[in-house]
Amino acid sequence: MFSLRAFNTFGIEASASQFVEISSIEQYISLRQSGEFAHLPHLFLGGGSNVLLTKNQEALVVKISIPGISILKEDADYIWVKGGAGVVWDEFVQYTVDHGWSGLENLSLIPGTVGAAPMQNIGAYGVEIKDTFESLEALNLQTLEIEVFDAKACAFGYRESFFKHAGKGHYLISSVTFRLAKKPTIKTSYGAIQEVLAAKGITQPSIREVADAVIEIRQSKLPDPKEIGNSGSFFKNPTVSASEAARLISENPGIPHYPVEGSTDVKFPAGWFIENAGWKGFRRGDAGVHAKQALVLVNYGQAKGEEILALSEEVKKSIKDTFGVALETEVNIL
Ligand SMILES: Cc1cc2nc3c(=O)[nH]c(=O)nc-3n(C[C@H](O)[C@H](O)[C@H](O)COP(=O)(O)OP(=O)(O)OC[C@H]3O[C@@H](n4cnc5c(N)ncnc54)[C@H](O)[C@@H]3O)c2cc1C
Repeated sequence: MFSLRAFNTFGIEASASQFVEISSIEQYISLRQSGEFAHLPHLFLGGGSNVLLTKNQEALVVKISIPGISILKEDADYIWVKGGAGVVWDEFVQYTVDHGWSGLENLSLIPGTVGAAPMQNIGAYGVEIKDTFESLEALNLQTLEIEVFDAKACAFGYRESFFKHAGKGHYLISSVTFRLAKKPTIKTSYGAIQEVLAAKGITQPSIREVADAVIEIRQSKLPDPKEIGNSGSFFKNPTVSASEAARLISENPGIPHYPVEGSTDVKFPAGWFIENAGWKGFRRGDAGVHAKQALVLVNYGQAKGEEILALSEEVKKSIKDTFGVALETEVNIL
């Protein structure tokens, strides 16, 4: 038995029957061909920052540590940069920012790995990876052949992709390629980026200054998993129809809401509902709702995954009963 506590940012104690760390796709193919772990299901982990372990894993846990950043090609306007699945996401982002390549700066400091980023089309501060995504390589777990997916094949949506649905459990993502701009396309309209830049007297920010502003905001707002176990936003922000949105706005004057690109649907911040239903700062045993960020469930130390899951179900029921809104879980429950 192998403890997974150090391999999930919730800091949940759960074991794996077997554990291996791979640094190349060939290593995983040989392992499969050897048949050594054929009796167990295989579970892939990157940084463990988007999972909640609710039980011991009767599985071979494969920690993906495939390294490498390379330039595939470039032209006058763009550069195509490929990252190995095990590269730490923020190291990849800072590498591109340091080189002056634009597109990922708003996604600074998101925990996890390059290989997991397409799983839920990670996003923050008005940007999602789909905006600069070129393609990814993934091992088909049945044929053991590498397949290439473009953005269309990945079927990206808000915190969604093919790999969370029809492709679930069928692929190991081995690398991801982004097409980044040589001429910066600055996006500062979302969240507090403009305020932070203005406070520093910056009116024409460089991508480094945008990245640094995002890092500063994230460090001040989000709990650091090294200090308190969590997996970031536990729930997705709910998207509802225009008529449902009209009801919510008339019943809850002042409720924040945002248009959804290319649709008449409206998005509401899940954290607003959780906070206004009185859950912010709630704690039972070591499971809780963060005191500053109601969207983040936390482990104060010894919480079990089942306790966090039970709390999330209670929160969901309460939001449904109070506001008539169904919250969806963003974190992968294992
Ligand atoms: C403090 C904090 C803040 C966060 N902020 C954000 C945010 O702003 N925006 C956002 O979108 N997310 C955010 N997250 C969530 C998380 O950072 C992302 O979802 C990240 O992409 C997860 O990467 P990981 O390597 O840790 O994935 P893991 O948690 O290890 O895995 C996630 C899922 O992907 C699968 N998987 C992992 N790697 C591979 C692979 N190579 N091939 C196939 N399957 C794989 C796993 O089996 C699992 O189902 C935050 C998390 C934390 C803790």
